[in-house]
Amino acid sequence: MPLLPPVRSIRNRMIVLFIVATTTTLGAFAAHRQWQLRQDLEQRFERTRVEVTDGLRQSLAGPAWALNVDILRTALEATLIHPEVTGACIYSPDGQEIYAEVHRPAMHASACSATRTHDVLSEVTIYPPDDIDADRRAQPIGKAIIRFTRDNMRQALRAAMVQGLTEVVAIDVVLVLLLTFGLRMVFGPLEHLRTALFRLASSQGDRLDELSRLGRTEFDSVIDGFNRVLRRLQATQAELVEKNRQLEVVSKTDQLTGVFNRRHLDEVLNSALAYTRHDGMPFSIILLDVDRFKSVNDTYGHQVGDRVLVEIARCILEVKRVTDTVGRWGGEEFLLICADTNLDDAVRFAETLRDAIATRTFSVTGQMTASLGVACVQDGDTIHGTISRADQALYRGKERGRNRVEYAPALEEPPAEHADDTPFGNASGKRVGDPITE
Ligand code: GH3
Ligand code: MG
Ligand code: MG
Repeated sequence: MPLLPPVRSIRNRMIVLFIVATTTTLGAFAAHRQWQLRQDLEQRFERTRVEVTDGLRQSLAGPAWALNVDILRTALEATLIHPEVTGACIYSPDGQEIYAEVHRPAMHASACSATRTHDVLSEVTIYPPDDIDADRRAQPIGKAIIRFTRDNMRQALRAAMVQGLTEVVAIDVVLVLLLTFGLRMVFGPLEHLRTALFRLASSQGDRLDELSRLGRTEFDSVIDGFNRVLRRLQATQAELVEKNRQLEVVSKTDQLTGVFNRRHLDEVLNSALAYTRHDGMPFSIILLDVDRFKSVNDTYGHQVGDRVLVEIARCILEVKRVTDTVGRWGGEEFLLICADTNLDDAVRFAETLRDAIATRTFSVTGQMTASLGVACVQDGDTIHGTISRADQALYRGKERGRNRVEYAPALEEPPAEHADDTPFGNASGKRVGDPITE
């Protein structure tokens, strides 16, 4: 499982934002409703208070003039119909005598008591009825005190607040659940896509596993599109790998003969030398030059000369051992690099090779021969020095009549490290790519 980098979740932030937004909005609505209710209740309370006091002012005049205590009491009891009234009492103008008093059963103290609690206390001065002399009517004949409470209003407000809060919480919960479910439908597949992409990124280039689908959502369409791109990528990559392989083969192959070219021989020589320097195991090289090749060109033409070179290469490939590397050193010269081979074995193998060429019948030219120079690479040796010694041996073979194997004797003292390890020109003094001159 690939390690997913931590992310700052958009989903969580959206949920938090949503909760804050909905709670604030719903809370504001609830607070406004509460304020309106308070205004309504306050108005209703005031209306009731005015209605009660005005009513008493009217209804108490007659019975108070007649001092009919029963009717006075009945009139006071009638006020208890209103839940806002907790009690009332009527007493004489001088305040000495209580004519009547009523209070709710739960209230124990007298309605006229000063200690009695109330929110609003209204006083009504009672005057004689209208049919009495105007002089007398100016004199108060009693006083009524009515106690009002806002308990009902408070209860209603409290109930409304609880209801409002419950509504906000309930709506919040429902909306958050809906949002969470909705977001899950989006963020679930997104998370799947994210995981799959990181798995894909961590997999090997040649093993680009396609992303798995989830169902039939828009995300699957994205995944399908992605997989389609992936398939094209895989096809392109396979082509690229094949082209690279071909390019690598071409870059190290001699176009005419099909054996390795000089560039690759240089690389093999360098790595073989490094190997020898590391563990001391010797390796040998054989420089092969076709004898009197110029006369082939002169006699049969260049094309036949080319065919002879191809046949020589084929002959070498047939004889060579698995561990030997064969390449065209230049012109009509070939180089063999014999891994883990000492001088004696290399000379023996060179002799086999010489014989194979000499006894072969070439298609146009019939018999051909080659001269071979052998040198063994020792610890402390250089590519430059070894090639030079093999070249000298080859030159000796030419001098001694051609169709021969000559070798450079092993060094008694290893030569000083040569500054330049790169092989120099071939035995004929030419390098691959030099123009062919007759
Ligand atoms: P020697 O026995 O001393 O090696 O004689 P030689 O004729 O083989 O040597 P020389 O160096 O005089 O001639 C080599 C010739 O090989 C000269 C050149 O034209 C020819 N040659 C080099 N490369 C090619 C090639 O790719 N194709 C053909 N057809 N000829 C080539
Ligand atoms: Mg030659
Ligand atoms: Mg030559």
